[in-house]
Amino acid sequence: MESTIVLATNNSNKVREMRELLSQYGKVQVKSLSDFGPMPEAVEDGETFEENAYKKALHYAKVLGLPCLADDSGLCVDALDGRPGVYSARYAGEHGDDAQNCAKVLHEMENQENRAAHFTCVLSLAVPSGPALTWEGRCEGEILREKRGNSGFGYDPLFFYPNFGKTFAEVPLSQKNTISHRGKALQEFAAEFPKVEAWLRQRMDELKPPKPDHSEFEHNDWSQERMVK
Ligand code: IMP
Repeated sequence: MESTIVLATNNSNKVREMRELLSQYGKVQVKSLSDFGPMPEAVEDGETFEENAYKKALHYAKVLGLPCLADDSGLCVDALDGRPGVYSARYAGEHGDDAQNCAKVLHEMENQENRAAHFTCVLSLAVPSGPALTWEGRCEGEILREKRGNSGFGYDPLFFYPNFGKTFAEVPLSQKNTISHRGKALQEFAAEFPKVEAWLRQRMDELKPPKPDHSEFEHNDWSQERMVK
């Protein structure tokens, strides 16, 4: 039987990437939120990446009645006590304003000698009844004193990856994916997929209503009754 997993995203690139990763395991159908109609959005007000990823995964699993995989990620800077952390997307105020978010980090890092930072990504796979599995990927680097490179998104132009000798915004996405926080979490998930699939099957079976027990049903064979009379 084919398993279905819904990715909590509308991003077709993420869906393609996941389909590719899981294609070696045969029968798994990967869907995204855009395969369904409009639905209420998840509230991401957790204090950790794990909490947010789980909230998102559980929200959509409950809405759709299907297993759902969600991620939460962000940049953690040592000298800033781990900020922007879970606030990465809206660090400067407006959600997804990459230029302002980078400017704020650069400003706060102006007089800091310790430039160490890492990206973290947590993946959470939840079933509608609540249980979930999680994976985490982490990637260590340094915050530059100015932006470098034009590809990528978010804090990529500030994030220098020593092994490449470049920022994440100076390498193709395919190269970034091999070592990125998201890439690592996804690789772990994919490597464990046979076990994950068995877990999913068991959890989803538990949700099915029990098969009706017909043994106690009486036959409406009234002819018998008439014969008795
Ligand atoms: P989300 O997990 O997609 O909500 O991402 C949260 C935020 O973290 C993004 O808006 C970016 O600011 C930042 N972020 C997460 N992953 C990356 C990355 O790979 N490169 C640059 N910024 C990232």
